[in-house]
Amino acid sequence: MAEFISKEARVKTLIKHAFVVSVDPSIGDIDGGDILIENGVISAVGISIEAEGAEPIDATGCIAIPGFVDTHRHFWEGALRSSTADWALLDFAGNMLVLASTCLRPQDMYATSLQGGLEALNAGVTTVADYCHNVISPEHAEQAVQGLRDSGVRAIWCYSFNQTLPARSGFADMQSRLAFLEDFGTRQFSAPGELVTLGVCPEEMAYWPTSRDSVVKSFELARHFGAPIFVHANGYTVGDGEYPGEVELIDGFGLLGPDLTLVHMGYTKESEWQRLGEAGVNVSFTPETELQMGMNMPPITAAKATGVNISIGVDITANNSGDLFTQMRMALQIERAKLAAPHAGALYSRTGIDCAEALYWGTMGGARAVGLQDRIGSLTPGKDADVVLLRADGIAMVGWDRGNPSATVVQQAGTHVVDTVLVRGRVVKRDGRLLADERRACALLEQTSRHVRTEAAKQGGFDLSTEELYGRLSSRMAAADGQAA
Ligand SMILES: [Zn+2]
Repeated sequence: MAEFISKEARVKTLIKHAFVVSVDPSIGDIDGGDILIENGVISAVGISIEAEGAEPIDATGCIAIPGFVDTHRHFWEGALRSSTADWALLDFAGNMLVLASTCLRPQDMYATSLQGGLEALNAGVTTVADYCHNVISPEHAEQAVQGLRDSGVRAIWCYSFNQTLPARSGFADMQSRLAFLEDFGTRQFSAPGELVTLGVCPEEMAYWPTSRDSVVKSFELARHFGAPIFVHANGYTVGDGEYPGEVELIDGFGLLGPDLTLVHMGYTKESEWQRLGEAGVNVSFTPETELQMGMNMPPITAAKATGVNISIGVDITANNSGDLFTQMRMALQIERAKLAAPHAGALYSRTGIDCAEALYWGTMGGARAVGLQDRIGSLTPGKDADVVLLRADGIAMVGWDRGNPSATVVQQAGTHVVDTVLVRGRVVKRDGRLLADERRACALLEQTSRHVRTEAAKQGGFDLSTEELYGRLSSRMAAADGQAA
């Protein structure tokens, strides 16, 4: 079903008179720049480009940037928007992951994918790695993928081996999950040129010691498909505040590689950073969720010191908004606060880390993490035309510093100035409006949200004591042990 008025990219489109922030060092920034797009691909970036027969887009007053790449989001959690905003990690695990997850029907996976994809596009996020850890049944997977396809967003839909309670699971055991992924991956993601591609999230690491063989097989299967791999790692301490050493665990399994992105990583040892740098592993920081839920401040300096590629993500839209401006800004300012600490309130010069770096995390850093660095992440001829135009001559941004456009993008812009969005040359937002059936997407999401809240309330709801939350978690742990293969 086509959500957009026109599914086809114009054969030739010419964006005129933008301030181009290419995020490509060989091109740099161009005041009054043009971008020529042919068959969905950027064919030229420069000044005064002429192209006969091209559909013009007047970008006067706009800053052109590459579409943002979000490397960590759970679209299905959008069913409970703002419900989790006062929750810490234990509330989230007991209420969202163990209870609410089982209340989503296949059509709810569709609704959250469709609305979530459109929400991302509206904010200029043209690519999202969707860590779909609520695949209760094959139908849930089918509908989640269909929702993404109908939204028009570029997505890496990540099949997750995370398990729900067996009474509500459509999979008998880990073997059946592996068999499903093998079939689904072949059936759904073999066609070339699809915007929605496959990723894999192995079982959550707390369960690895009891699931060794299936974890290794899930990595093998991902690599068979060439699918990028994402895992939550080192997000909380164990025992008496000890770092969990989950990189050591992965390394011990022999599974590190440049197709792997580790998410959160707030409690990572120095020796682990060293290994990640050597193995070319990526990280995804999701600062807003991490700050809220006790997952520590993003260790950006430690990651940079060993050359680990940094990307960022929105994570939980039930916590926070679905744009990357907020996440870039949070990550940057937290890091500046850490760098300022040794000065202890004294006057000093420069922040130690610039906005251009934060813009890189939200664009090229993300593209590298999802393995699409040759296709997206910068405005470079030969790459797909995922382009965002930010309205910079309006009341919110007028007078901006042409000498530092990255600063304007990172610290002044927001979803409110996302004027135009193109995904592989196709215009999906124009003049500040999505070219999609937004009303239908909102109506479906509203129905889903009501259904999930009603069902969850029937099953004990979200207002639980710490002991009761632990009770829910231990029944989930027992279920995972029972299914380990
Ligand atoms: Zn997550």
